[in-house]
Amino acid sequence: MTTANRVPVVQGLFAETPNGPRLLGSKCATCGTPYFPKSSACHNPDCQDPRVEDAQFGPRGKLWSYVVQFYPPPPPVKYDEPFVPYAVGAVDLPGGLRVLGRMSVDDVKKIKIGMDVDLVIERLCGDKDGNEVTTWKFRLV
Ligand SMILES: [Zn+2]
Repeated sequence: MTTANRVPVVQGLFAETPNGPRLLGSKCATCGTPYFPKSSACHNPDCQDPRVEDAQFGPRGKLWSYVVQFYPPPPPVKYDEPFVPYAVGAVDLPGGLRVLGRMSVDDVKKIKIGMDVDLVIERLCGDKDGNEVTTWKFRLV
């Protein structure tokens, strides 16, 4: 048996850095508005300068809210069969970014709003070529 290759579900959204996993986005060079995924311009109506720069977000955040997905979502959402309910969290990261991500927990009853969470890169599902498809998730601290 060979070890599965890890492939990101979408290129350019997240990366393992020397400092740990990070989401790859943008930040306005003038007003600091954060964007994820990357944006080519600032969309803050109060900002007169559209220039943005690359920015990385994570790893520690605070859970703002969450929901449990109890039924299989429609394509293009990917998951392993058989479907297992999972939680999706809305997490506030430093820099003002609020982002959605799956929660990495074995029991959704452990999740409480306001908890500290850490960004992790983990398995989302397998693909037809035997690869392990990865995505960003949030793990309870
Ligand atoms: Zn701006």
